[in-house]
Amino acid sequence: MNLNTRAVHAGRADLAGLGLHVAPIDLSTTYPNLDTRGEAARLEILGTGASDGGPPIYGRLGNPTVARFETALADLEGCEAAVAFASGMAALSACLLAAAARGKPHIAGIRPLYGTTDHLLESGLLGTSITWTTPDKIETALRNDTGLVIVESPANPTLEEHDIRAIADACGDVPLLVDNTFATPILQRPAELGASMVMHSATKFLGGHGDVVGGVIACDEQTARTLRQIRFATGGILHPLAGYLLLRGLSTLPIRVKTASQTAKTLAGRLAAHPGVSAVFYPQRTGGALVSIEVPGDPHDVLDRVRLFTPAVSLGGVDSLIQIPAALTHHIMDAGQRADAGISDRLIRIAVGLEDVEDLWADLDQALTNVHPTE
Ligand SMILES: *Cc1c(COP(=O)(O)O)cnc(C)c1O
Repeated sequence: MNLNTRAVHAGRADLAGLGLHVAPIDLSTTYPNLDTRGEAARLEILGTGASDGGPPIYGRLGNPTVARFETALADLEGCEAAVAFASGMAALSACLLAAAARGKPHIAGIRPLYGTTDHLLESGLLGTSITWTTPDKIETALRNDTGLVIVESPANPTLEEHDIRAIADACGDVPLLVDNTFATPILQRPAELGASMVMHSATKFLGGHGDVVGGVIACDEQTARTLRQIRFATGGILHPLAGYLLLRGLSTLPIRVKTASQTAKTLAGRLAAHPGVSAVFYPQRTGGALVSIEVPGDPHDVLDRVRLFTPAVSLGGVDSLIQIPAALTHHIMDAGQRADAGISDRLIRIAVGLEDVEDLWADLDQALTNVHPTE
């Protein structure tokens, strides 16, 4: 069935049989043991990250509401499974721990990446090491102990697009993780292009309303088992209420992403002709709801003048946000690394929401027109 239909129905196949129309929110932390003699054997199965199809045991081992979101997201990404976490960074942490646990703690990364992702890799906080590379030099970055290659496309915040299929080919046997937060499965399905793991900060488009923090990895069942093992042992679980909100968010994902992307594309075209803008970045192949611009003057002046846009970190919600990556999302990187990644101090990232395009344009136009270049 079409993606629009699956977004509405995936993860809900059993509801009618249960006499329900909307997914129930199961807040239980523990569950009655219906067969106390059989429980030990069940725990052994669940401890390997597999599912035995039986009733839940404990909140950290799995939750039925969260499982619905996982089923639906896996379906939309065209993957066997998905494993949800407390945040995007918790999801990425599990992937890094999994690589290290396999004895392959070396990671190859393509900049730019989300600022905290860059920081986590650069700092080696989880015992991994990083080699920064480019799509055309992946083979030379790979070592015997390389456990993961990481890329974002379109990348945060420059919106650079990469040829995921070519990168996946260059990775050979090394798993490729693609952060698909910006494109969402509506605009791009990295698993179909050869990625082994597809990551989302579910906080952004999947939730879509700025009221839930979460993360998820879509992948094959074997990888999912390892990630569930890590989640069970380290505890970075998604709350059931967040699972409910994310499942609900998925049902409107196609319509939200398409509408916001159409608006963003129109704005990108108009911004390119605006005298107060020196460069515009918009992913021409993938599209999406983000536009980045460079301004000749102080970008903070633009943020001082916007009225409809909210100066704030994050993206993917119903309302439009605007931020300066060098001062906020990517501030944690040092200035030299930011420059290497192509992130100028005058870059402004615009996350387009669902407001009318003319209202958004009027706000940007006045904010950019009143700014005078510093030179
Ligand atoms: C926000 C974001 C993250 C981090 O996700 P959290 O849910 O904030 O932990 C990772 N990657 C990208 C591209 C993001 O935009």
